[in-house]
Amino acid sequence: MASILENFKKVKASLPNDVTLVVVSKTKPIESIMEVYQSGHRIFGENKVQELTEKHAQLPQDIKWHFIGHLQTNKVKYIAPFVDLIHAVDSPRLLKEINKQGAKNDRVISCLLQAKIAQEESKYGLSFDAICTLLANCVTTPLPYVKIEGLMAMATNTQQEAIIRKELNSLYTFFNEQKEKYAFLNTLSIGMSNDYPIAIEEGSTMVRVGSAIYK
Ligand SMILES: *Cc1c(COP(=O)(O)O)cnc(C)c1O
Repeated sequence: MASILENFKKVKASLPNDVTLVVVSKTKPIESIMEVYQSGHRIFGENKVQELTEKHAQLPQDIKWHFIGHLQTNKVKYIAPFVDLIHAVDSPRLLKEINKQGAKNDRVISCLLQAKIAQEESKYGLSFDAICTLLANCVTTPLPYVKIEGLMAMATNTQQEAIIRKELNSLYTFFNEQKEKYAFLNTLSIGMSNDYPIAIEEGSTMVRVGSAIYK
């Protein structure tokens, strides 16, 4: 069986230089994170607030922690002091709370808006229309402690490549349209272990890979 480090190096080597790798370390122990950290990698992703705050306290302070899961409004305060990027903003209310907590901590918090592209009903995320409204509102009524950097999404969890490709491609088209209007959009966070090679072909600038590394 290949080691964590070998898996990491393989994934990393398969990515174009301009695609950012978020190593998803959720449920993995400190030692497993340190193995990848020791090789020079600094960007890790977690999807539970408590797990993230505990790991942040125990691990080196130069790690850039990305919050990739569904974030409850009442938990923003726990990660606001240190989080590097919040991937899955799925409501105007959450964005306002991030702004409020950013103000309290005197730091601008980088965010991505989560687009709903998968067919599954349970998935969180905003419709393209809702994203358009939110972006327009952010221009008319700026939130000074929030920096919207782009969009994030999850494609349907399926082996059928055509479905994944169609969903990701529609998002890429939408992302480019919005980029024309809002020059501050530069990140498209799509692609996980099962679909990141497809996501890169469909315009991803940031992939979130867990199980392909921590098998
Ligand atoms: C777990 C998770 C990932 C990583 O998934 P893998 O299949 O383990 O690569 C990426 N994004 C989000 C939002 C996740 O929750």
